[in-house]
Amino acid sequence: MPIYEYKCEKCNEDFELIVFSTTVVKCPKCENKDVRKKMSLFGMGGSGKSSSQADTGGGKGCSGCSSHNCSTC
Ligand SMILES: [Zn+2]
Repeated sequence: MPIYEYKCEKCNEDFELIVFSTTVVKCPKCENKDVRKKMSLFGMGGSGKSSSQADTGGGKGCSGCSSHNCSTC
């Protein structure tokens, strides 16, 4: 689901919006449509580590934390 971050050029309000193809993007504060799209909240860092580490575990308990089925460390 594409969530974008916008900044209103008129009142400088920062807001996030789930954008569908029919969505008209406008500022929720002043309803100005002259907004600037910022970076998407998705698709950039922090979304998880590489899945390549999953090959080394062999299904055993994780040594990095107390979980038995940890796939993130
Ligand atoms: Zn505004």
